[in-house]
Amino acid sequence: MSNLNDFLKEYSPILYNCERPSRYIGGEFLSTKKDFSANRTKILLAFPDKYEIGISNFGHKILYHIINQKEDMLADRIYAPEKDFLELLNKYNKPLYSLDNKKPMQDFDLIGFALQYEMSYTTILKMLEMGSISVLSCNRKEGEPIIFAGGPCAYNPNPLSDFIDLFLIGDGEEVVVEVANLYKKIKHLKRSEILEKLSEIEGVYSPVYSPKRGKVKKRISPLAFEDHPVSSPIPHSQSVHDRATVEIRRGCGRLCRFCQSAHTNLPIRERKKDDIIKLAKQYIKNTGYDEYSLLSLSSNDHGKIEEIIEELNKHFKGTDVSVSLPSQRADRFSVKLGQLIHGIRKGTVTIAPEAGSQRMRNVINKNLDENQIISATLASVENGWDKIKFYFIIGLPFEKEEDLEEIAKLLEKINQKCKEAGYKLPKITCSISTFVPKPFTPFSVCSQNPPDKIKSKISYLRQKSAHLKNVKLNFHNPIISQFEAFLTRGDKKVCNFIYELYKKGSYLESWEENVNYDTYYKTAEECGLDINIETAKEYSYDAELPWDVIDAGVNKEWLKNEFSKAQKAESTIPCETKCSNCGVCNNFKTKKSLDA
Ligand code: SF4
Repeated sequence: MSNLNDFLKEYSPILYNCERPSRYIGGEFLSTKKDFSANRTKILLAFPDKYEIGISNFGHKILYHIINQKEDMLADRIYAPEKDFLELLNKYNKPLYSLDNKKPMQDFDLIGFALQYEMSYTTILKMLEMGSISVLSCNRKEGEPIIFAGGPCAYNPNPLSDFIDLFLIGDGEEVVVEVANLYKKIKHLKRSEILEKLSEIEGVYSPVYSPKRGKVKKRISPLAFEDHPVSSPIPHSQSVHDRATVEIRRGCGRLCRFCQSAHTNLPIRERKKDDIIKLAKQYIKNTGYDEYSLLSLSSNDHGKIEEIIEELNKHFKGTDVSVSLPSQRADRFSVKLGQLIHGIRKGTVTIAPEAGSQRMRNVINKNLDENQIISATLASVENGWDKIKFYFIIGLPFEKEEDLEEIAKLLEKINQKCKEAGYKLPKITCSISTFVPKPFTPFSVCSQNPPDKIKSKISYLRQKSAHLKNVKLNFHNPIISQFEAFLTRGDKKVCNFIYELYKKGSYLESWEENVNYDTYYKTAEECGLDINIETAKEYSYDAELPWDVIDAGVNKEWLKNEFSKAQKAESTIPCETKCSNCGVCNNFKTKKSLDA
């Protein structure tokens, strides 16, 4: 399609008849449209979820910004359409197209999928099909785009290794540019030669070529100032996070033993205070947003968080601009911080004790005690926050019945302390998820509780907290958590399962209402796999693990030792305070950088 008019002429019957056409028209304020015909390497950034989720993803925004800054490259975007739109594309025999340039997926040199969560795997396959691209990489012909993928789930590439040509492991800022630069030089070669050469770049895993060469090391970005976006496409319709975002820190040294992001994003890299302030001011100026988020796995762990907010508050005084901290540590939540983030719109304060008893908090290495949780809650209520959200996980390794009861007791104590202080009881929402053993964590080898066991734990918790009228318990679906565990630790046999699910019509399954549980269990059985057995399985650190093809930097011996410490309910001091020799700094000749 040569221009917008041609596009509208061709696609208007589809756009007129679909729900929320704003998801499919592109051209948002601050989106980038470069000349497609020029001699540029064309990269399509694909997000296998709906527009309103994908357009908010910060990783996508970073890559879109970095690639489009390069004169000889072009980045465009595509998100997973709703089923009604797919049906209309089929009806009118039209391919799925990119949002900025309105080009079919086939017209791109490279297509990169974001692997944020396991339940999006079948959506990737369907998007490839709708773009008329061979779903199986072994069937891709000369001239078809190179399909790459990166993000948290790339740390175990096995389940998608039949569909993705190349996985980018770790931080994508530098490696995506290196891939595009090399591609430009070698694009005249045969497809197999291109893939072989691209897989020689550090941080690139090819299911075909890398296993012959040994483990692929993750990439670590220095978080260069110019790599951070200061604008991004403003969504036409409501999105999940419609605000300016400044990433203040990558990595988390707390090293909770269930948390994959903490272990795969080491070492901690803290952005300098002055850079954060510049980025926030510029982002707000460029976009007109009235809210900015200071993003990190644990935002108030930044050494200068209070100074940063204080200075930005001064700068935005008299405007409607307010700050949000997406994730906070209870032990770092002070009355002063509460006052500083006491914005115009008072949202919800989020605190993540993860476990109710001190023993369990030691098992998971939360480094948080009850007084700290209660003090953070009281400080929030004192500052006028009347809604508090708590995160808990159940089904954790070494959990006992009394640990569950302690969750209810902790909530009871919080209510009691609020009453003693003369405060009105806050509305408390507890988001309670099921433990999922993730690769590259000390708990990766652990068995997961089956859904029936989790359901009885849920009933027990409901019964124990029924008298707390200001507390609402929200549980994540334990069956979905079981599917996540099955996929996240899967080996190559899981590829066939994903392929069969896709052929049966699985799509947009990150939305629970789209998941057919029976189809999952039945398809696994047909593929010779048993989801219940696989997820209940205990792995051993002494054996080869499916994700051992990747080197995330953390030593296996260290992970094994952390697991033994968990058994004894012993904590490890956070990396911010003292190095526990996890291996990352030595193995990657790097070090943590704090804005001290
Ligand atoms: S080696 Fe030490 S300083 Fe480096 S990431 Fe690991 S614990 Fe932190």
